[in-house]
Amino acid sequence: MSIEVQQLQKNFGDFVAVDNVSLSINSGELTALLGPSGSGKTTLLRLIAGLEQADAGRILFHGEDISHQHVSERGVGFVFQHYALFKHMTVAENVGFGLSVKPKKFRPNKAEIQKRVHKLLELVQLDWTADRYPSQLSGGQRQRIALARALAVEPKVLLLDEPFGALDAKVRAELRRWLRRLHDEIHVTSVFVTHDQEEALEVADRIVVMNKGRVEQDGTPEEVYDHPANPFVYEFLGTVNLFHARVRQGDTLIKQAQADSPATAGDVEQPGLAYVRPHEIDVLLQVEPEAIAAKLDLITVVGPSVRLEFSSSEHELIHVELDKLRFKQLGLSIGQQTYLKPRYNRVFLGEGI
Ligand code: ATP
Repeated sequence: MSIEVQQLQKNFGDFVAVDNVSLSINSGELTALLGPSGSGKTTLLRLIAGLEQADAGRILFHGEDISHQHVSERGVGFVFQHYALFKHMTVAENVGFGLSVKPKKFRPNKAEIQKRVHKLLELVQLDWTADRYPSQLSGGQRQRIALARALAVEPKVLLLDEPFGALDAKVRAELRRWLRRLHDEIHVTSVFVTHDQEEALEVADRIVVMNKGRVEQDGTPEEVYDHPANPFVYEFLGTVNLFHARVRQGDTLIKQAQADSPATAGDVEQPGLAYVRPHEIDVLLQVEPEAIAAKLDLITVVGPSVRLEFSSSEHELIHVELDKLRFKQLGLSIGQQTYLKPRYNRVFLGEGI
């Protein structure tokens, strides 16, 4: 089931929550709506669900305009941040709930419901919890049950709003990998809201980056990470170093270094900003032309990589990330004088965002 959002607009009083958003989501894709708090992700999800009515624009499911359909007619399944399981029902009853309240002519018989529930519990690898109550499950298990319950009615579209937001970091990381594997099995068109860039990069087939009610970029995780459309996307998708540049057609000067100019640069010199990710900087022990002299202030080992903070002679903070092997080869220590060589792959015109 593909989803097409066309020039969607939603205002709350004078406030524009979703601002002329257009978007195509392919059938079977897992799409992340990613953006800072208040960027309109949940509102867009609720519009797709039919929980909010748009002020303008259209939503099509598989080419059919469903903008005026009630939520109950759209065939969507939901999973929210806070497990909305029924406390007084067992896990099996929770999962089977959507089927048991169907109108009589669509309702499967009891044996059929039991069979479907069992299959879903197997799918989320929690069949052994069928007779338990939600209070006897961990937070992560409850979210998996919430997902099984959403899938029970065979939704055309699955919508997830920060589904793992209330869980601790480790469970969150496990569950997102699990969601990815599950999605590879069932291929239901899914849209999930997150403000966590790592989660979006790891799980999604497509990422829609939102800011102030608008779509800043829409692409695969590789596209948005490696080819961000603008400074906002660049900064939102991870730590970045900014270097002031002077830009002119065919010629960009950043500190002492030369780089390619943005295609839009004209003949008159103007200010620009070079964006460099921490892993795009090499650390040298000897002075080299174009390298920035900097002193090492902080070393943080994070699993297989090492995060370093340097200060340049102009007191700029520069973030660098090295793999452990390179770090060991360099034999770096706090206070050491080094020379940093950034790869200036990305220069944007202007003074900042
Ligand atoms: P978060 O990650 O914090 O949930 P979000 O990107 O999902 O943020 P939304 O919940 O879509 O953002 O909200 C977008 C903006 O619209 C916010 O500024 C919010 O205050 C406003 N808003 C949302 N719902 C309503 C409402 N019912 N009435 C008034 N304003 C609203």
